[in-house]
Amino acid sequence: RTVYVNGQYLPEDEAKVSIFDRGFLMADGVYEVTSVIGGKLVDFDGHATRLERSLSELDMGQPLTKDELLEVHRELVRLNEIDEGGVYLQITRGAPADRDFVFPPADTPQTVVLFTQSKPGLSAATPKPISVISIEDQRWGRRDIKTVQLLYPSLGKMMAKAAGADDAWMVEDGFVTEGTSNNAYIVKGRKIITRHLGNEILHGITRAAVLRFAREAQMEVEERNFTIDEAKEADEAFITSATMFVTPVVAIDGEQIGNGEGGGIAARLREIYIEESRKAAV
Ligand code: PMP
Repeated sequence: RTVYVNGQYLPEDEAKVSIFDRGFLMADGVYEVTSVIGGKLVDFDGHATRLERSLSELDMGQPLTKDELLEVHRELVRLNEIDEGGVYLQITRGAPADRDFVFPPADTPQTVVLFTQSKPGLSAATPKPISVISIEDQRWGRRDIKTVQLLYPSLGKMMAKAAGADDAWMVEDGFVTEGTSNNAYIVKGRKIITRHLGNEILHGITRAAVLRFAREAQMEVEERNFTIDEAKEADEAFITSATMFVTPVVAIDGEQIGNGEGGGIAARLREIYIEESRKAAV
């Protein structure tokens, strides 16, 4: 693979970052994952806009303009011949001279890293449905900022695997926040229910697009809290993310949801999402 690091395109084994990088020492960094369909970027503008917000919420600078970022994304997709997959981008506060809790001087160069991931079959019409377990949400309080502090989500994923499931839905004060790396939805009757936005969840770029398409297709959407018990009684459940698009959830804590096979509203939303994303990709 050819990767991008601080202005250079290099073979991945030649790309280097300092051991004093605050991303490495303190998880002081933010990231984005933009999917690629048909060699083009899906909702690049949404990801670039959320990135700007994540950086600004953490008092970090914006080392590249949106246009420059788009160029780097496109160049990596071209160099690595990505047809379906994604581009990972990470920006950290850079590498000061020594480890210190205090932020380094504002002129410390930030670290910018991008690489591609090839995932043939990403936009398949019928993905393998997933099962989830519920776990307590033990992450920090600013989940609306897309930081690289992913240890708890990673532990959650391991808890799911240990329980024979694919992923975990996290629960705080009795209500589902989101999946370890995706937003969570249930369907009751024909109504799509997903948690309202706030600091408790990441404002998914796929979520925004899917809710917009749902409303355009005259589907009913309710943005509100729901519990695991309500989810277990739902007609359908599903998740969204840039890497899973819309994927059905057919079991929660071992209890079957709906017909246990997916389909329904989630399948229709996936179809619309992929079709519209393919058209609008840049
Ligand atoms: N929530 C969390 C915690 C995530 O990590 C992600 C994926 N990065 C999402 C939701 C989905 O966001 P998006 O649709 O922008 O990929």
